[in-house]
Amino acid sequence: MKVIKIAAEMQQIALKHVKAGDEIGLVPTMGALHDGHISLIDKSGKNDDITIVSIFVNPTQFGPNEDYLKYPRPIDKDLKICKKHHVDYVFLPSVAEMFSDTHKTFVEVSQMQDILCGAFRKGHFRGVATVVAKLFNISRADRAYFGLKDFQQLKIIEKMAKDLNFTTKIVACPTIREKSALALSSRNSYLNAAQKVNAGLISQILKEAKENFKTKPLKTVLGIALKKLKSIPESKIDYAEIVDFYDLSPASSKTKKAAFLAAVWVGKTRLIDNMAMNK
Ligand code: AMP
Repeated sequence: MKVIKIAAEMQQIALKHVKAGDEIGLVPTMGALHDGHISLIDKSGKNDDITIVSIFVNPTQFGPNEDYLKYPRPIDKDLKICKKHHVDYVFLPSVAEMFSDTHKTFVEVSQMQDILCGAFRKGHFRGVATVVAKLFNISRADRAYFGLKDFQQLKIIEKMAKDLNFTTKIVACPTIREKSALALSSRNSYLNAAQKVNAGLISQILKEAKENFKTKPLKTVLGIALKKLKSIPESKIDYAEIVDFYDLSPASSKTKKAAFLAAVWVGKTRLIDNMAMNK
């Protein structure tokens, strides 16, 4: 396994692999790797000749009052995990390497970037889309792996890849959860033991909504879930919405396949989760 810190060097290596006929898989991460990330890495290991994992805590996707500085960065542990899971290259650029002082170009996926999480985290998805576009070009990936855990992010990346004619295929991977059903997240490390137990309730409430969606009207499904989310100790809801599974537009009584997306604070930790729902 090689650790590459320079974008041009990573791109040259990738181009050599392309010429040799290798298929490349990219797993973009912000590090603090857990079993969710590992599931993506292992999937690339199965599908691709070469696996590149990028580890970059992207400042352009954090708001001024967000946790950029305190975001966990256990890099030695992350590198050990990558090695154990047969990663070929870890792309580990500095902020200056990815965003020089003269950087002027940003990618925006209009409308989709301004709703749900985007309404509460201004500029977040612009930062995400820009860095992912750069990573696609640097890695020359045939396939890039994203978790369904970040459902809005996945839909935005899919749209960006389609609209900008990237050849990279987006592979959506299932959400890996703890026994309590809490979705694994690097931010779970901010939670104390009691908050962790309470945070597990979010996915249980979404699961119940999935059952209710089969028989009950949309408003009732949402009403029941909201009441329960509000009753989680220390919780504050940013949003809880049922949207069309494919394009994130508001669901209606006619929607057959939907997704329930929620962002809920537990104490000082903002958690997101979602559940696909079918009629
Ligand atoms: P992050 O490091 O949080 O930017 O996440 C990197 C990638 O891992 C994204 O595609 C996430 O959707 C994915 N991911 C994060 N948590 C999970 C999880 N619990 N299950 C599956 N994928 C995940």
